[in-house]
Amino acid sequence: MKRKVFACIILFFTSLVIGQNEIKIHYTVDLTRIESDSFYVMLNVEGIKTDSIVFQFASTAPGAYEVMNVGRFVGNFEAFDYSDELLKIYRKDVNQYVIYNAKSLGKIQYQVEDSYDTNIKEFPIFSAAGSNLEKDNVVINGQMVFGYFQGYQENPVTVNFNYPKDWLVGTALPTEDGKYFAEDYDRLVDSPLMIGELTKSTLEISDTKVDVYCYSQNKVITASIIADTLEPIVKAVEKFLGALPVKHYAFLFHFRKDVQGGALEHNYSSYYAMPEDDITQLLESLLPTASHEFCHIVTPLHIHSDIIEQFNFEKPVASRHLWFYEGVTNWMESTSRLRGGLISEADFFDEIISSSLRTSTRLFDSTVSLIESSLGCYNEYEFEWYHAYSRGGLVGLLLDLKILELSDYKVGLKDVIIKLLNEYKTKSFPDEKFFNIIVEHSYPEIREILERYVGGTDALPMKEYLDKIGYDYIPEVKTGKQEA
Ligand SMILES: [Zn+2]
Repeated sequence: MKRKVFACIILFFTSLVIGQNEIKIHYTVDLTRIESDSFYVMLNVEGIKTDSIVFQFASTAPGAYEVMNVGRFVGNFEAFDYSDELLKIYRKDVNQYVIYNAKSLGKIQYQVEDSYDTNIKEFPIFSAAGSNLEKDNVVINGQMVFGYFQGYQENPVTVNFNYPKDWLVGTALPTEDGKYFAEDYDRLVDSPLMIGELTKSTLEISDTKVDVYCYSQNKVITASIIADTLEPIVKAVEKFLGALPVKHYAFLFHFRKDVQGGALEHNYSSYYAMPEDDITQLLESLLPTASHEFCHIVTPLHIHSDIIEQFNFEKPVASRHLWFYEGVTNWMESTSRLRGGLISEADFFDEIISSSLRTSTRLFDSTVSLIESSLGCYNEYEFEWYHAYSRGGLVGLLLDLKILELSDYKVGLKDVIIKLLNEYKTKSFPDEKFFNIIVEHSYPEIREILERYVGGTDALPMKEYLDKIGYDYIPEVKTGKQEA
């Protein structure tokens, strides 16, 4: 009994301390002022107890693997005290504003350009991580519009948007009476919003509610057509995993003529910026992309390292394991479609595996390991890290075949992933210990695959592995002639 009382006291004091450290942060974004292609952002704040404070814009965002420096898009930054008098500020860095006399800080205002129509052409923002503000639609990836006070990244945030009454809002953020809630800045960034003249459709897959939102510039496609296309994929992933690890999910699709295609995964949603082609081509290109992004609900969104868990928005820090986040996701995406009967075995090996092999050998430097390119994704390996998709996916196949063989075909990589998912659903793994963790959850023999083909640069033993399952591996021969 004593122990229980002691535990309660600790909890009580902990909650008091958290309460004391919290400040009130409420954003209002006016989406009706589109004349300057900039978001007008107002932030009301209460409770800062330091003499000065740094307001930070993001240098990058999870999943983007590029330096963004959102501060480049910010202008007219002003801070006011509770009496609406201007406070002294100092721009310390492209992404940082120091605000003085912060104890009396009551409001911040700034404008931030939308990245789709910006005149800043250097280091363009990846379309799926960007922002857009137009008369019939708005796209907000949180890091492109919102910042945070240093030391308060974990503070809850609320947001209101002003927009025309007949617009729809697509997002995974919870809402009440028009106000959106994020438990912290990371969640705000993790929950893109698409607002405007959208169509919406909802799928119920077991006890998971999947909302599909669509903006189509020329009304070529609607959410219900996309939802019909996505339903078999979501069901195939559910069948593959046994159960979906989320209870709600939102697909946000933005189609326009002049966009570079891209997609970005989030914990409870994914956002797609795609060129608006004819509908058949649209659906063809949408399928593998949407199923890849949806499969990210497993990794990195649930299974991820400590580096991703405590995301550093000030200075990008890379994880070693893009091969797992992107490559194993690729493997999982194609394998769940194969096992769900959506593609044939011939499609799987002839198309997907062969094309990964070609991409891996033709495009990438075979002397750089997957770990090295992952660690260098923000600087020296800004192209090389893409090897994670093809070689990482092939490593996924090797791991699966080896685990199947070692277990007498009772379990495969999928079962290891499910074990990891259960263990790491609510916590992260130490980045440098992941090989050990995979080995602990599978077989000692697995270490060799990880060390040689992920940590090292040995050529993948495709012939040996494909032979075991009755497939011929014919390596590509360089003829010196151009392909017909
Ligand atoms: Zn991905």
